[in-house]
Amino acid sequence: MKDRKCPKCGSSDLKAPRHIRARGVTSAKTADLNIITCRKCMYTEFYELTEGEVAPIDKKAGMIFLFAAVLPTLIGIGVSVWLIWG
Ligand SMILES: [Zn+2]
Repeated sequence: MKDRKCPKCGSSDLKAPRHIRARGVTSAKTADLNIITCRKCMYTEFYELTEGEVAPIDKKAGMIFLFAAVLPTLIGIGVSVWLIWG
C-alpha cells in the first residue's frame, strides 16, 4: 500500500496517511502508526513509524505539554505573587 496502490482492489485512490498514537491496555508503551485507507473499498493498512519519523512528533508533543501544563502553572504562580506583592 506504500506504493500508493490498494492490495485488495488495485485502486490507487488512497487517502493521505494519518498518524495515530495507540496505547496498549496494560502496557505504558505506545505505538505510533500511520494508517492508510483506500477510498474505493475502505481497506485500511497500518504502518508503524520509524524512529526518525517519531522524533519530531515527540518533540511537538513535548511542546504541547509545555504550553498545556507548565505555562498555566507558571502564570498561576505569577498572578498569585503579583496579587500578594502588587
Ligand atoms: Zn481498495
